[in-house]
Amino acid sequence: MQYKAFHKLSYGMYLVTSAWEGARAGYVANTVFQVTSAPPQVALSCHKNNDTLQVILKSGVFSISVLKREADVSLIGEFGFMSSSWFDKFAKVNAEVKSTGAPVVTDSCVAWLDCRLVHSLDLGTHQLLIGEVLDSGLLSREEPLTYQWYRDHLKMLAPRNAPTYIDRETLEKEENSPASEASEASATEPSGSGTDPGRAMDASPAPTQEHDPDDDEQYICVVCGYVYRPEDGDPAAGIPPGTPFSDLPEDYRCPICNAGKDYFKPLG
Ligand code: FE
Repeated sequence: MQYKAFHKLSYGMYLVTSAWEGARAGYVANTVFQVTSAPPQVALSCHKNNDTLQVILKSGVFSISVLKREADVSLIGEFGFMSSSWFDKFAKVNAEVKSTGAPVVTDSCVAWLDCRLVHSLDLGTHQLLIGEVLDSGLLSREEPLTYQWYRDHLKMLAPRNAPTYIDRETLEKEENSPASEASEASATEPSGSGTDPGRAMDASPAPTQEHDPDDDEQYICVVCGYVYRPEDGDPAAGIPPGTPFSDLPEDYRCPICNAGKDYFKPLG
């Protein structure tokens, strides 16, 4: 089994939301797809531990907001890595109620679908949900976010509950295997594929006499999988490229899930 083959499947990125008796819940999904056109129906797969699933099953409704490529990463972090049971994911976002009563998130999204749950299938760890789309609308002409962009440019992993989750150790083991090296060597990356060449080629700066190799060490957020790379810094947080992890301010927080510095460990 070559797990990286699964990364060749294409997906979008979505916010799936619902509400029941005044309580709102939502999460980030990549497995949403249209299954019929008349009536318009969509399918999505949701982990059974996901609070939003319980709200959808009780209310019988859900909405899907299609994330845009330049979406606010903290919004993705909050919907993707926090739990609706103890964190109000809607506190900082604009949401509107359409026909079903499910909250439709309008920030950072290009379109929405408002759905009535019509089927549910037990898949073991996940529940497959089929919804009939009762209403839909466009929010923006911007590009939608794809799962590949999410992985390659935002450097994010799938959360543990995602249907497409593959643990980092398995991927690393596969990457270091002789079979993988052979297939990587023979593979030709199409131009403009979205892969950041700086990353792909490990464009670390050439060491200088005073350069401490420890300053290049990458750190991973153990909550969400975000990797801090000193050569990139975190410009959105005012951290310039070339800043070692050890020089980050003590109140530095993960740009994706908001975890503090203590939640980072050396990538090794
Ligand atoms: Fe994080």
